[in-house]
Order: sequence, then structure tokens, then C-alpha cells
Amino acid sequence: MYRLTSENELKKYGKTWSLSAKALALANQQKACWPLAGNNYRALKNSRESEISFGTFVVKYQFNPERIRSSAANTSPEAISSRPCFLCPGNLPAEQAGIPVAGRFILLVNPYPIFPVHLTIPSTLHTPQRIDGSIDALLEISRLLNEFVVFYNGPKCGASAPDHLHFQAGIRGILPLEDDLDTLVTAHSQINSVDSDVRIYAPGNYLRRILILRSASAESLQKRLSTIINLLPAEQGEEPMVNILTWYNAPEWTVALFPRAKQRPWQYFADDFDKLVISPAAVELGGLVVLPREEDYFKLSGKELASVFEQVTLGKEDFEALKMKIAGSSSQS
Ligand SMILES: [Zn+2]
Repeated sequence: MYRLTSENELKKYGKTWSLSAKALALANQQKACWPLAGNNYRALKNSRESEISFGTFVVKYQFNPERIRSSAANTSPEAISSRPCFLCPGNLPAEQAGIPVAGRFILLVNPYPIFPVHLTIPSTLHTPQRIDGSIDALLEISRLLNEFVVFYNGPKCGASAPDHLHFQAGIRGILPLEDDLDTLVTAHSQINSVDSDVRIYAPGNYLRRILILRSASAESLQKRLSTIINLLPAEQGEEPMVNILTWYNAPEWTVALFPRAKQRPWQYFADDFDKLVISPAAVELGGLVVLPREEDYFKLSGKELASVFEQVTLGKEDFEALKMKIAGSSSQS
């Protein structure tokens, strides 16, 4: 069983009137009572960050040495089966406590943060990382946790625990994607008919292939997301490669879906000068690139970044074909 934090305990560290407020209180409690979390959040405050401008949008990058464990994680089936699962309750540090959410998930504070408040949200069951069957939970968690961006990394798209279903959440106002959205979403980029209660957009000129869905109906949104994911190419027995980010501004969800082509760019495997330790996941595609090596922080250029995004998201032709299929499937949902 996961260790839960009582409401009375949370009240010592913040407000408890909403799930977002409770999550902030939990983060304060964990920073105060768990030295590893306290130290890493303090270090994040002083971490170096910069940005590259691409005209209408920017991509930020952050030097964050603690994230090497995630960026360089060996997620091969052999490596995964030979280590204890770090999201199962029996293997959590004694100080780690959480808050239950959506019936079958638990909010935990991520002790290796990218965001000033960074949550890991594992399923209470040790079950493989798959979005199929959990889109409803993702949307429900993002509605309840409306001061956060909630995201999903596919098992070969940045998740460092492909064997244990989990989401993550970062406090809003950090990812450039949030600011970019209103510029990206134009009448010109909408690809489905206007009478649908889910609006789907596929803006160009964003370095990476992205689909944006907006709707006030969780049920319709869940159906459309599921349909779109099933249209994507996949290896046999595996789910299509995706990263998904979502946030809720009442009454509407915004969902950003990044269809993927590759887990890691060639630069990740290169030697010496060409090497860049970037393992793109939802946060990177959301416009905040995490760099665990200092040399990469000094070396990263707009050209390299464009190359990385181009490689890891779905190819141009496949994406155009996908857009046609989505437009064609509009009336069936
Ligand atoms: Zn587990």
C-alpha cells in the first residue's frame, strides 16, 4: 500500500480546498521532510536556463544533471525486469507519501524535478505503461489538477518506467507550449469539420509534428484521442509511439499529441563532438529541453534542436496521411 498524507498533515503546509492546492501542500511537505527532495528542488531553483528563439516561439533549455538517470535510462526489457520497480509502493523511500486520485492513481512528488512543482502519478497497480484504457483517467486527473499540465510519455517515448503505468504533472506557466497554443491554433490549421464537439488542429512551422485537440466533452475527447492513436503506425503488440500533454481551463481541455517516429535522435548515440544527451519526452516537445550534461548546455544550437525534433516526431509524409485519415474519420465519432 502507498503511504498517504493526511489532510491534517497537508494543512500544516498549505491549503486543501482543491486537488491542485493539496498537491502544492504535498510538495511543501515533501521538500521539508525529505532531504533528497528538499535538496533537489533547491538545486533546481539555481539551475541554469536559456532559450532559443524561432521567431514566433521559443524553446527553453535547462541544465539539470540530476535528470541523467531519466535521460540515459536503459529501458530495454532485460534492464527493466532486473531492477526493482521504483513506482511500486514497496520500493518507495520511507519519506515518500501521496494523495489518491481518480480511484486508481496516486499523486507523488517527483524527487528529481524539472518543474518547481513536479508530480509523478503512478497507477496503484503494477501494470505496463499504456495509454489505451487510461485516457479517461488522464482527462479526469487534468480536470482535478487544473493548475498543472498533466502528461503521458509512451513506453519508448521518454518513460523511464515502461513497466508501471504512470503520468506526470508540472505546475503551469513553465512550458512554452502553453503560450504558443493560441498562436498555433488558427482557423487555417483546423482539420476536422466545425460541427464536431472536438476541434482538431495540425499547425505547421513548429519544428515538431503536433496535433491539438480542444473540447469541453471528456467523453468525445476520449473517443477522438483513442481513434487518432489507433490510426498511428505501431510495431506489432506495441502501442503507437506518442507523448500527450493536457491541461484544463474550464470548461475546456486542451490536448497536445505528439506522434513519434523514434525514441532518441542520432546525436544521442554519436561520439565526442556530435554527441548530445537529449532523450525527448513530453516536456522537451512542450518546449523545455532538459540537458543533463553541461557541455550540451553550451553547445546546443537552433539547428541541432530542429534536427532532433524533426527526427523524433512522425515524418512529414506520414503526418500528412494521418491528417487526411483524421479528416475522413471525423463524422464517425
Ligand atoms: Zn511497479
